[in-house]
Amino acid sequence: MKKILLLVLSSALLLTACDEQPRTVSSRLIILGFDGMDPNLAQKWMDDGSLPNFSKLAASGEFHSLQTSNPPQSPVAWSDFATGTKPGDHGIYDFLSRDPATYGPAFSISESIPPETVLPLFGMELPLDDGAIINRRQGTPFWSSIEENGGASTVLRVPVTFPPDPIQRMLAGMGVPDLLGTQGTYTLYTTRPTSPASSASTRAVRVRPDKAGLIETVLEGPAHPLKPDAPALNVSLTIKPDGKNVIVELDGETVNLTSGEWSDWMTVKFPFLGFASVSGIVRLNLVSSYPRVQLYVSPIHIDPREPVVPLSSPPEYAAELAEEIGLYHTIGMPEETWSLNEGHLSDSAYLEMIRTMLEEREAMFFGALDKQDSDLVVGVFVQTDRVSHMFYRGIDEQHALYPDTDEEARQAIHWIYMEADRILGETMARMGPDDRLIVLSDHGFAPFRWAVNLNRWLTDEGLLVMKDDATTSGVGFTGVDWARSKAYAIGLNSVFINRSGREAQGIVNEAEADQIKRRIMRQLPELVDQNNGLKIVSEVFDGAELYPNNANGDAPDLVIGYNPGYRASWQTTLGGTPSKLVEVNARKWSGDHCMDPSAVPGILFTSFRPDKPLREIIDIARYARLEGNTQQ
Ligand SMILES: [Zn+2]
Repeated sequence: MKKILLLVLSSALLLTACDEQPRTVSSRLIILGFDGMDPNLAQKWMDDGSLPNFSKLAASGEFHSLQTSNPPQSPVAWSDFATGTKPGDHGIYDFLSRDPATYGPAFSISESIPPETVLPLFGMELPLDDGAIINRRQGTPFWSSIEENGGASTVLRVPVTFPPDPIQRMLAGMGVPDLLGTQGTYTLYTTRPTSPASSASTRAVRVRPDKAGLIETVLEGPAHPLKPDAPALNVSLTIKPDGKNVIVELDGETVNLTSGEWSDWMTVKFPFLGFASVSGIVRLNLVSSYPRVQLYVSPIHIDPREPVVPLSSPPEYAAELAEEIGLYHTIGMPEETWSLNEGHLSDSAYLEMIRTMLEEREAMFFGALDKQDSDLVVGVFVQTDRVSHMFYRGIDEQHALYPDTDEEARQAIHWIYMEADRILGETMARMGPDDRLIVLSDHGFAPFRWAVNLNRWLTDEGLLVMKDDATTSGVGFTGVDWARSKAYAIGLNSVFINRSGREAQGIVNEAEADQIKRRIMRQLPELVDQNNGLKIVSEVFDGAELYPNNANGDAPDLVIGYNPGYRASWQTTLGGTPSKLVEVNARKWSGDHCMDPSAVPGILFTSFRPDKPLREIIDIARYARLEGNTQQ
């Protein structure tokens, strides 16, 4: 967070970008992405007539499933999309990579490099160089190639575009942090006793009303930018009863909320040094009113009017958008899936939040189309993916929560597909006769009924060993004896060998690594779930074959292709080893796609017939580059 001050200063300097003459483009390539749109569900709802615009588009050009990335995870697939290359070349292999020095999980998409030199002064640490935030995706995205050839690109909210590429217009997507520097940490104020937070993205704060019901507390913000040991910056927060409603005063701004209701955006300015401040925006949801008050405060979004990190290209575009369409969610993954999973938000409040996000994204995307100044316009709506993750329990009769779902939950995925259809219709209405449209998803969807503790299996096979004869470990591999361990699972699909010379306490040489890989590739697909006789894994892929170039040096040794229904448990993703191999997934996060890629293809529609069919997600970049070049 030391870099905040510098970024505030440097983004102010960058606001002097030059004004170019507006140009009008009559022959555009428009790419509309719906993250996680599944070909089977789309076909079903096209057949029953509820997706008329998709049906119309399908009749005009190509319409078929689209081969996704391996593994079929959004950051990987959208990086395949952007660069037209596979993970071995673009270097994004999984949501999470691991630090071979510590075995701890690391966010694979972007990386902060702190300033190298710091001047200690009056108890503060003044950074003397910039530090940097880098996008870990390697290679050249096709929108940059098009600009290099004289075209102009507008790219909105494509995952793995933070920090934004220097093109005509870009708003960064997945990868943008919140003001705390995390991928989205929310706060729940509650008068009930709080259980320990189940993840780092949850802050549960126990509050006690006085006799009049008044609750006085603070919202904690980022760390002090210049004093690492000082308490976090904060702003005041008071809650008091108002009949059935509550009145919340946050950093001097007052809002009256009824149960279940979202507030508009509220601005929070975290002061430091008496004259400076860092600005964020939040929305509040009153989960329940007095006497058992629960107030939900969204993650603190970077204020697009005063961004402390670059959210857009050019830097002032984020603020211009706020001027045009009002404040909007800026975090890379703002759909607060974890709070719904934890029961800290209701289904209705979650869907209401999704509605708000659709409105924001539509306003941006249609605004960009209406400008008519780009040869390429790309917009990705990820809400299809997030609703599918959280409401698959409404369409999967075998899911543990299916009996508890109400009509709203059962209709949620159908609803978001119909919203996608509406957005498609409005896009088509904005197209000129020479415009071309590609609509795609990065992967499809499948049920997530059972969570697999893959480190349990590795431990049972003697490949992962605990200290002191323990049989389980917490997340972050606490208690693992690396001097005796040969393989470990982390992230959603990755397994690594504990290689000597690579991992800090590696013990496996090249020849043995190969033997261990062959053994796992042979044994895992034979593994049977004792609860139901089903096979858990369809195929284990060899990382060396999938990713020969091993960009970033992060390639996993093995990639696990789970059968539909199964997915790595949350503990596995963070390097935990619980006692059971398979657990019933009784959480609202009930659909997924981090499985065998052949089970979860994406979908593709085009308004035209390309010379060469677009079969795989990597084909889009090739087509867009050709198209961009031939138009010049
Ligand atoms: Zn997803």
